[in-house]
Amino acid sequence: MALFAGKPIKHVTTIRERDKALIFDIIRRSGPLSRAQIQQMVDLRPATISHVTRELISEGGIREAGLSDNPTGRKQILLEMNRDAGVILAVDCDAENIMVGALNYVPAFIHPIHSEKTDLLHGAEGLVAQMFRCVREMMNAAGIAQSSILGIGVGDPGMVDTQSGLSVMAATIDFWRNIPLRQLFEQEFGVRCVVVNNTRSRTIAEQMLGAGERSDDLIFVQYGRGIGAGIVSGGRMIQGCSWAAGEFGHIHVSENGPPCKCGSFGCIEALADIGAMEARLKKAIISGGFSVCVKMAGGDIDRITGWHVLEAARLGDKMSIVIAEEMAECLGRGIANLINLFNPSLILLDKRLALAGDLVLDQVNRTVKRQALAYSVQSVSCRFSSLEDANLLGAALVVLEDKFEVPTVKPRLFGADRHAEKDPEISHQRLVSDAPIF
Ligand SMILES: [Zn+2]
Repeated sequence: MALFAGKPIKHVTTIRERDKALIFDIIRRSGPLSRAQIQQMVDLRPATISHVTRELISEGGIREAGLSDNPTGRKQILLEMNRDAGVILAVDCDAENIMVGALNYVPAFIHPIHSEKTDLLHGAEGLVAQMFRCVREMMNAAGIAQSSILGIGVGDPGMVDTQSGLSVMAATIDFWRNIPLRQLFEQEFGVRCVVVNNTRSRTIAEQMLGAGERSDDLIFVQYGRGIGAGIVSGGRMIQGCSWAAGEFGHIHVSENGPPCKCGSFGCIEALADIGAMEARLKKAIISGGFSVCVKMAGGDIDRITGWHVLEAARLGDKMSIVIAEEMAECLGRGIANLINLFNPSLILLDKRLALAGDLVLDQVNRTVKRQALAYSVQSVSCRFSSLEDANLLGAALVVLEDKFEVPTVKPRLFGADRHAEKDPEISHQRLVSDAPIF
């Protein structure tokens, strides 16, 4: 299955190459597995499976992992992916931070994450240079040779043309427009690079490894400076015809709402993102109100952030509770619309909202129950996302899916493999159930 909708289908020219990719992908996703178990998952001849697995072991892609626990029959050798066969570099950039992680094929981090403030003072060139430097620093610190890098996954704050790896535009960074990120990274590091919008990379990570529990119909709501949504419907990430799907923050919810960065007014984002909460609290304090947030910010009103508001709400600060509940009510109205449109089984709220305890989640649930179709509400549950570094994990998963996508066979017109068309194994191919979603 193609990584993203619209991506060209990956081809190989021989059945053997396709079988090899298929068996490797099955072991990667479902291993450790015995050869007999692999055969149950794909209709390939035992001799083919033996030959291909031997080849994969000698190349270092897979390895033996002990014997199966089979009390009645003969114990069989298990095969698993060699998780340390190479390194994936995952990069994430937004208006606040640049993060870089080095991960194995699981994917799991193999070195502490590098994180620093995003340099917004030197334009696009300066920001790209900063990303490159961060990657180089990670390579040096973790002792990663270029030859061991499987690929680089880059999470981008804006809309991304995933076919060409072009970052089209980002609402949160003015100068971030038409940046050919994939091309730049590939030129700089000489390895394959995949670029993905970072709300979607988080969604992918939560879906595959976190609170999403591999649901085929889920929506992840990202919250911070700006609000976005990653929408997985029918097992596919929805991207839109020009990569702009999921702009949840710009759903119009108030006739008399404040102006929004997008040029409209009354958008969810303008009313309820972390900046909006911060502004409301500061205004209330300047007008003579009391909030424990002032103390939390060391007595300096200018240092109060929306995150203080969430935390103070959990501690019982009355002003913060009012602001956080109104924000959650607004968010809930938007989520009710999403539920009516997509009928998801799961809504994942950005775990950063749990700073307010269950206050936001409870209010969103109340609003959804009141405003979404009762029939759809019966089958949806709403919970917090669960992963700490979902942005980097998601970028790594995208690299893995890109690399190990099972190709289709495109026989050569002239050559040794014309018999491929007659081989029954092509039509009998049966893939594992958990095919990639994106
Ligand atoms: Zn807007």
